[in-house]
Amino acid sequence: MEEISVKTHDRTELVDITSMVRDAVRKSGVSSGVCHVFVPHTTAAVTINENADPAVTKDVLMELNKVIPFDDGYRHMEGNSAAHIKSSLVGCSETVLIEGGDLQLGTWQSLFFCEFDGPRSRRAWVQVTGNRA
Ligand code: ZN
Repeated sequence: MEEISVKTHDRTELVDITSMVRDAVRKSGVSSGVCHVFVPHTTAAVTINENADPAVTKDVLMELNKVIPFDDGYRHMEGNSAAHIKSSLVGCSETVLIEGGDLQLGTWQSLFFCEFDGPRSRRAWVQVTGNRA
């Protein structure tokens, strides 16, 4: 297993971690298999979405923040219930197929670490399984 470190700078933020995950895949030596990305946090998540237009990730965050407001009479005393809810909705893992020793993502797809309670120092775990060439 490889660990990726992610430093976030905003309260909510999507960070493209594709190149770091790609490095973990190359390091594994697996040519055909699967890559699991797991985020071990309850106020963060991981998702796959468009990398070409940075407005897309901004729109995703804008709508998530609208649907799940930061303050809404939540009971959780830590004051970050919105982040916990977003984490559950988006999810803490993704699986991407590997062929030719590389991630099989669509042309416009990237893997994004989703910060919902930043800024913080975060991590993601990457496990690669499959056949070596
Ligand atoms: Zn909390």
